[in-house]
Amino acid sequence: MNDTLPITLRVDEPMARHTSWRVGGPARYYAEPATPDEAIALAAWASAQDLPLIWVGRGTNLLVRDEGFAGVIAAYRGQRWSLREDGDQAELWVEAGAPMAGTARRLAAMGWAGLEWAEGLPGAIGGAIVGNAGCYGGDTAGVLVAAELLLNGRERVEWPVTALAYAYRESVLKQSMTDNIPPLVLAGRFRFRRADPTALAARMAAIAAERKRKTPAGSSCGSVFKNPPGDSAGRLIEAAGLKGTRIGDAEISSIHANYIVNRGRACAADILALIELARATVAERFGVTLQLEVRVI
Ligand SMILES: Cc1cc2nc3c(=O)[nH]c(=O)nc-3n(C[C@H](O)[C@H](O)[C@H](O)COP(=O)(O)OP(=O)(O)OC[C@H]3O[C@@H](n4cnc5c(N)ncnc54)[C@H](O)[C@@H]3O)c2cc1C
Repeated sequence: MNDTLPITLRVDEPMARHTSWRVGGPARYYAEPATPDEAIALAAWASAQDLPLIWVGRGTNLLVRDEGFAGVIAAYRGQRWSLREDGDQAELWVEAGAPMAGTARRLAAMGWAGLEWAEGLPGAIGGAIVGNAGCYGGDTAGVLVAAELLLNGRERVEWPVTALAYAYRESVLKQSMTDNIPPLVLAGRFRFRRADPTALAARMAAIAAERKRKTPAGSSCGSVFKNPPGDSAGRLIEAAGLKGTRIGDAEISSIHANYIVNRGRACAADILALIELARATVAERFGVTLQLEVRVI
């Protein structure tokens, strides 16, 4: 705990505890602000200490290097929400720390359609807004109305979805993540339409079953690379003969070649070596340069 801050700061916190890959060295400081005021205080403190700051969510799309990060990593944990109904439409305001899949289920049970595709999607609302998370025919850009942001660690603004310049797994926010004080997503406003809860539940059960069938068991970050235009990264890596390739305890999944699975004691260097191998082999064999979907810290 730091005397000048209203929240707990953990020192040398292993990021392996906060990423779905279960790898990653220590953050010099780690915190979990749960309100805008706590986030503002933390950003001011980091700035005063001249420390770089990174906002994260649930760490399901992150690779933290083994040497860690010599600054502050903060996971925004606010989870409040409110729903405003207007006839057959509803607008949800939800804070960035709420789980994406849990929110989708809650809405579907209430008979609101629009987020069924997010059944089983790991991570929180903020991460989905930054990366335009999507699957099974939907994406965040398709349901978001506006994002509430904290700019420069102090200025609260609301940006309409059009200002986020969404594309496939891309946004203007994702491009700003390496700024010294990057934008923090505080909340999102989403629009939904009324539907039959039973039909929504059936659709989500089908998605859950398909996700279960296609997702390799074990710790991962989901898809490592973005799909190149008109193709799939998994197909290219498989065609390059790399399925099942292992470095240390990291393995290119034999079920889905765009997944790298931590078989137990992998370190970030093992995963990075597999990433480089996949990239180099696919470039050499097919002339395609794969772009990372996952963020490396
Ligand atoms: C098994 C598995 C399956 C997956 N399947 C899919 C899939 O089908 N489709 C898909 O799109 N993704 C998928 N993913 C990836 C991941 O679930 C999404 O990218 C998710 O949206 C990341 O959310 P997060 O909260 O974990 O973000 P993090 O991984 O913590 O962060 C991701 C990025 O967003 C930034 N960020 C996070 N929260 C905030 C915030 N509040 N303010 C500012 N910046 C923030 C971080 O700095 C980082 O750049 C999968 C992951 C796993 C492990």
